[in-house]
Amino acid sequence: MLGCVIHGRGDLRVEELPTPSPGPGEVLVAVRYGGICGSDLHYWRHGGVGDFRLREPMVLGHEVVGTVLAHGSPAPRGVPAGAEVAVHPATPCGTCPECARGRRNICRDARYLGSAARTPHVQGGFAARIVVPADQVRPLPAGLPSRRAALAEPLSVALHAVRRAGPVAGRHVLVTGAGPIGCLVVAAAKAAGAAQVTVTDLLPAALGYARAAGADTTVLAADPADPADPADPARPDEAEADVAVEASGAAAGLDACLRRVRRGGTVVQLGMLPPGQSPFAGNLVVGREIELRGAFRFDAEFDDALALLAGQPAFDGLISAVAPVSEAESAFALAADRERSCKVLLDFAS
Ligand SMILES: [Zn+2]
Ligand SMILES: [Zn+2]
Repeated sequence: MLGCVIHGRGDLRVEELPTPSPGPGEVLVAVRYGGICGSDLHYWRHGGVGDFRLREPMVLGHEVVGTVLAHGSPAPRGVPAGAEVAVHPATPCGTCPECARGRRNICRDARYLGSAARTPHVQGGFAARIVVPADQVRPLPAGLPSRRAALAEPLSVALHAVRRAGPVAGRHVLVTGAGPIGCLVVAAAKAAGAAQVTVTDLLPAALGYARAAGADTTVLAADPADPADPADPARPDEAEADVAVEASGAAAGLDACLRRVRRGGTVVQLGMLPPGQSPFAGNLVVGREIELRGAFRFDAEFDDALALLAGQPAFDGLISAVAPVSEAESAFALAADRERSCKVLLDFAS
């Protein structure tokens, strides 16, 4: 069976891998689609993401859907063989202080598909067959095509970020960054009743996807790296937001959120910032009593995401391409080119 393995920075290989077999409490899943995530692209282009560095070859991927093929012995209860499922990629330890407090998404000893956060790395889902704990597969709700269900993981991330922001019903939400995650934050904020969602990005094409996701206003941001195009933090045409979600992973995005949220407002940092320190106007947090919060992964939001996807075919518009796994490298290049794509899926059945 074929899998998509990162060996180091810039070294992505589609390889023949041994088919795993499920142990007690596990299921074997035939993967159909795998969504290429920003973190997969980071491993490919930079050899790491955030503070996590690649130390050994790793199967990428954590946004996967497929079909249950077999159970380990003794067979766990739950999803029967033949069921189409989405895979929850996180296995929290269940015993650390965070797990005990119900904050399973920030478990200090979690396993997450396709992550180099721990060594040995947790192998990911970009393979034709994977074995996962049985309680991490969720049957797809009626009417949800598996292609759209591949958005469940990134949509869960977005739902969690909006939850971290507090109530957004009737409020103005600013989102910086209109990549797949930013677009899904737009959809999540609208689903939570936001009155107005404004999105900024450096690229017009990305803002087009944000509008497809339901953004009310899109703003082409000035590029802080371009001296001919100085960022103007106080553009008078833009209303203050009650809540800002930073989804670009750039410190300039966080800085823009702090400047553009109202006094006493809330800023949620969702994008993974570069490793080490980040420059931003921290004094605004003080003088304007801004609530600055992080959002990392998700937990039970996975089930909410599947329900939301089932009812909204418009999400299909965020999937800009589906490529066979044999063309993984060009699919990664497409996913990395935000002028040409939003979410790109790999197809493991082709
Ligand atoms: Zn992801
Ligand atoms: Zn834990």
